[in-house]
Amino acid sequence: MPSQRRTIKLVIPIAKTVDFKPGKRNVFFHILTDCNLSCQHCYIKPEQHGTGSVPGETIEKWLKLFMDEKKESNVIFLGGEPTMHKDLPEAIKTAKQLGYRSVTVDTNGFLFNNFLDKVTPADLDFLSFSLDGPTPDVNDPIRGEGVFETCAENIRKAVAKRFNVSLIYTVSRRNIDYLHRMPDLLVEWGVKRFFIQVIGIRGKPAKNGAGKWQLSPDEWLDNIPPVAVDAANKGITVIYPKVFLKQEETFECAGRVAENYFIFPNGRVYQCPLCEDYPVNAYRIEDDRLIKNDGILEDNFFTLKIPEGCVISKLLQPDNLQYDQDGKPLYKISCCLLKQEIKK
Ligand code: SF4
Ligand code: SF4
Repeated sequence: MPSQRRTIKLVIPIAKTVDFKPGKRNVFFHILTDCNLSCQHCYIKPEQHGTGSVPGETIEKWLKLFMDEKKESNVIFLGGEPTMHKDLPEAIKTAKQLGYRSVTVDTNGFLFNNFLDKVTPADLDFLSFSLDGPTPDVNDPIRGEGVFETCAENIRKAVAKRFNVSLIYTVSRRNIDYLHRMPDLLVEWGVKRFFIQVIGIRGKPAKNGAGKWQLSPDEWLDNIPPVAVDAANKGITVIYPKVFLKQEETFECAGRVAENYFIFPNGRVYQCPLCEDYPVNAYRIEDDRLIKNDGILEDNFFTLKIPEGCVISKLLQPDNLQYDQDGKPLYKISCCLLKQEIKK
């Protein structure tokens, strides 16, 4: 019998660069630095970011401080572990009432204080879980024993309650070989968005041997785009940093052209996440007012133009760069806030 020829439908997902948009403001609000976990790649440094938690009434004041009605304002609540803060559900509702366009919580998956019983899917645009492997064997050596099971169970509970669930996977040498197994798992769990993050050499990785973590450009480019396409073809929206730009592509620093504020419990406000290990924050909150700091600060670097792209990346992570024999960079490092989005 002649074999029947099957028609394979080739679906090419749509990829676009999510540029910084004028008129858009993103507020990354670390409401506390406490956490029940002690992940090996944690970027929180209490000596820089404070040890306290922002009291509920102060959260409300700071949400008002950063809300600009003329702009699309979005808030992401982070920690530490933000669900350890008993006032988080109230803060989420306040943010919505104040007019924040989207409200997201980034959690390590433990969902303390009966979090899922205190908010509804209408309160929260996205609930993002951090997981760094498709199995306990991969995830738990990085994030802690038993973390995979707890996180997976709470992802299933959140999906069952109809929350929009996303997942953040921080890719490093420790887990890159397992990334390709994530799309099927996300489909099984009903996760809608997949954030693939590149490990930043700050916080603990900066102290504990960057070479154990940091990816080469080839490792990133060989692995991440194919997994992103696979996940997109399975119906998941994938967002990942561009990291490398060809010389002909335009480089822009978000610190100059966008409005991103990274707020910490001690009142420090950064514009660039790469700078958070150092006391170079351009702003601080004092008496519930936003104050511009003086001195040599992160924003002094935003204006410098170099052929390598991001100045702070060149200073802090020079191993990310490669040069030709004439000393010209082979590519530029993009702003870490420039993302590629891919979906069907
Ligand atoms: S869950 Fe987040 S804040 Fe907590 S230790 Fe891990 S990386 Fe740090
Ligand atoms: S990562 Fe680089 S390009 Fe982006 S805001 Fe910071 S300094 Fe600017």
